[in-house]
Amino acid sequence: MAVIHRIRLGTCNTYLIQGNNGYVLVDAGNSNKVTVFFSNLRKHNISPDSIKLIVITHVHFDHVGSLSAIKNICKCPVAIHQREAQLLREGKVVIPPGTNLWGKTVSYIGERIAGIGFIKFNAVEPDIVISREMFLEEFGVNGSIIPTPGHTYGSMSVVLPTGEAFVGDLAVNFIGSVFPPFAENGREVTISWRKLVSLGANTIFPGHGHPFNVNLLKEKTRVPHEIIIPGRQLS
Ligand SMILES: [Zn+2]
Ligand SMILES: [Zn+2]
Repeated sequence: MAVIHRIRLGTCNTYLIQGNNGYVLVDAGNSNKVTVFFSNLRKHNISPDSIKLIVITHVHFDHVGSLSAIKNICKCPVAIHQREAQLLREGKVVIPPGTNLWGKTVSYIGERIAGIGFIKFNAVEPDIVISREMFLEEFGVNGSIIPTPGHTYGSMSVVLPTGEAFVGDLAVNFIGSVFPPFAENGREVTISWRKLVSLGANTIFPGHGHPFNVNLLKEKTRVPHEIIIPGRQLS
């Protein structure tokens, strides 16, 4: 099983996945959390230059807030899906639509706050723009980045052959639900969940809340175990 460090930067979890000669970081948390990030690195005895890649699951302000500052210090490439790249380049804040009453209310308020410029993050030029599965061997990690649209159309997850899946906001673990309270396409969310299950995911590491067993996603989608998505199997 891979060594994983979960570091909370504001409301968002970021994850360090240990590889052969360094780490891959998934997401970069809220703004102004760079001190928290590097004090956590020190605590785990990890040097900034051992971070080989930052994978951004999607460009929402709570996942890219400290990206610019972290990248400047770690000097590592940033990978993003093609459909999110422009948002990152422009530092553009997008408030997604809500999928339940709570999400719709927060989304409504968020739109107004964003409209007056209260929510922002520093733009970052992505180094690696992808549109399909990308393997992480080059960065020392046995696993891959796969597109998992739904929360946003350009959302991605990192999946390891040992079953850990880092999913951004494709699934959450708070207020009693794993379905994201915000999504650009709810149907795509469940299709992406099925994809994770078919790839052998066993533990979901969400952007918000504690990691949880993939069975919670299976129960919601009633995924038949024999479903196999065409393409390479991770294990
Ligand atoms: Zn999000
Ligand atoms: Zn989020």
